[in-house]
Amino acid sequence: MADETVVSCTECPYEETFSKLRTAREAIDAHERETGHTVDWSVSGVSSGVEAAGDAAGICGVPGSSADSPFWPTER
Ligand SMILES: [Zn+2]
Repeated sequence: MADETVVSCTECPYEETFSKLRTAREAIDAHERETGHTVDWSVSGVSSGVEAAGDAAGICGVPGSSADSPFWPTER
């Protein structure tokens, strides 16, 4: 039951699935930097508790993720 991070751009057909959150994050960062697009993402295969925490953060955030990027809000 692997975690899968699904990355999809809201402004172009770009969509990709990553097995590692870190890889997904780098891809998001790269795409937004290169195109100026807004990339959405979600994690499947995680526990409902984690998903609920993401909702609480106002975005599909992942608790414990690093806060060094503006795309990844700090856990509240
Ligand atoms: Zn795009």
